[in-house]
Amino acid sequence: MNEQISIGFTAMEHIRFLTENIGPRPAGSLQEQRGLDYAAEQLIRNGYKTQQSPVSFAPNPAFYIENILAGIIIILAGWGWYYLPWLTLLSPLLLLLIPELERWNETHRPHTRKSANLFGSVEDEDYDKPLIIFCAHVDSAPAMAVDHPLLVGLFAHGMTILQRLAIFILFLSIVHLIGFSLPFSIYLPLAIITSLVGLWFAGTDLINQLNRKKGYTTGAIDNASGVGLTLALAEHFAVSGVPRRLRLGFLVTGAEETGLHGAMAFAKSNLIQKQKTLVINLDMVGAGRDVLIVEKEGSLFTYKTPVELNKLFLNVCPQAKLTWYSLKSGDFAAFLAAGVDAISIQTTGNDQAEAVYHTVNDTFDAVDIQSLELTGQALVRYVDMLPYSQWAMTKND
Ligand SMILES: [Zn+2]
Repeated sequence: MNEQISIGFTAMEHIRFLTENIGPRPAGSLQEQRGLDYAAEQLIRNGYKTQQSPVSFAPNPAFYIENILAGIIIILAGWGWYYLPWLTLLSPLLLLLIPELERWNETHRPHTRKSANLFGSVEDEDYDKPLIIFCAHVDSAPAMAVDHPLLVGLFAHGMTILQRLAIFILFLSIVHLIGFSLPFSIYLPLAIITSLVGLWFAGTDLINQLNRKKGYTTGAIDNASGVGLTLALAEHFAVSGVPRRLRLGFLVTGAEETGLHGAMAFAKSNLIQKQKTLVINLDMVGAGRDVLIVEKEGSLFTYKTPVELNKLFLNVCPQAKLTWYSLKSGDFAAFLAAGVDAISIQTTGNDQAEAVYHTVNDTFDAVDIQSLELTGQALVRYVDMLPYSQWAMTKND
């Protein structure tokens, strides 16, 4: 087979199995377990030893209040800035705090259900070498009811739109507060516009939450693509070999979509030495030719991925761009929170892929093989370069 296309091609075969033979994989479900078992078979077939370990997780709550609250805040700001400018000054801060509230909620809900992680690695290991773990979540997300392609992309940017609008209103409040009299004629149109934006955002969220008839997504891009690429890389390194100064591991997590529970459990387990491990998180890697490397996560309190290790990726993949997950998250954040070095790779750029995020349309047909190939080849070069990085040098001491 042509080496140039083999990683993407192999990844596609795994994605096809996960999406078309297994289908949606809710956290804690039989289908999620089938995904883990399938990945285990593939790793064993390539000579790795595997281990599954149980994960306890908190299922998604019946109702999230956060987005509705955000809609209400922007509506109040839109009507209040003229008369209660002091109060309006708070709204951008409140909107930045809401994603933090959501994050706090996710980590503090009681764990009542069981999922699992799968970890594969080379037998007979030298435990002194730095361990590089490719990581991807196998579970899929609840499907949004409002899934028209035009509305999905807009809703995904909803909180950002609200935050920008709040900053604009803040600016008007300050102008008003320091005594420049703004004409009353702008008051009503602005109040109406913010009301419409707030109602759209809170309303869409409410419909998505109350109408769960569509079940769970097939999760082809999010994140059979990450699992497929992880397994394809496992096969690649089984054939071509691993740089002598590194160990490689392959982690498939469960219960990511419920709040990174699989990754949190793994980061706390005794399967890794925290100080000698680098996790390379692959989430949504079949979504277009633009490769993104996540620089930080969080809106107000952020986790940062290691600068040196991001730069190294930019060396092997010069077209990659840095991105900031101000609202989204991923397994890498659970590792960073636990003190384990982690980077995260995503792809974007395919309009169709953007429009299917967390909907029933996230199916095999939406996956872009070229983006898998591009990312896969870059990661092979990355692993080749890693032994020469400052990071690995200090770990080898
Ligand atoms: Zn994901």
